[in-house]
Amino acid sequence: TRGFYIGRFQPYHNGHHSVVETISEEVDELVLGIGSAGNSHTRHDPFTAGERIMMITKSLVDSDLVTYAVPIEDLDRNSVWVSHVQSMSPEFDVAYSNNPLVIQLFTEAGVEVRQSPMFNRDVLEGTEVRDRMVEGGDWEKLVPEAVTEVIEESGGIERIQRVSQTDS
Ligand code: ATP
Ligand code: MG
Repeated sequence: TRGFYIGRFQPYHNGHHSVVETISEEVDELVLGIGSAGNSHTRHDPFTAGERIMMITKSLVDSDLVTYAVPIEDLDRNSVWVSHVQSMSPEFDVAYSNNPLVIQLFTEAGVEVRQSPMFNRDVLEGTEVRDRMVEGGDWEKLVPEAVTEVIEESGGIERIQRVSQTDS
């Protein structure tokens, strides 16, 4: 079986990584859909699709799971969003999500949806990781080591701090 798991992964953090580990017990292959793929260089979406592909690929390099990271651009039309996803992704049998809208759209399209448990959600949340990056806090322990390397290589901390400022 092949699964599908979508997120913005801004950045890919240890909560996502735990979800993937859990899913790996149920599927042979997993597509990671990189949502809002066209967005980058904002406080909410600091990293490019390419950087997020690197975070995911390098974090999962030692995993037995066959994974594909597929950028998915936003579509301002929920009624055909599942077709949009399917048009960009390797075919999949089951979609994993906890997001109510995503669950609704896949279910209406006849795709099986499974939910995964939340891991340490009080700190393992993209918003918390980005806040710590902006404020100079300890974000590194919330992400896989490979993600720290990608962010350092791309000047990601300086970037998110700068784009979080306003002019004047
Ligand atoms: P943001 O604050 O930017 O929304 P996020 O942590 O919610 O960050 P997403 O990219 O939106 O990250 O997450 C993709 C999916 O992963 C979501 O459906 C979310 O429910 C799930 N997820 C995120 N963090 C965890 C976690 N700690 N445990 C389990 N699932 C998680
Ligand atoms: Mg979220």
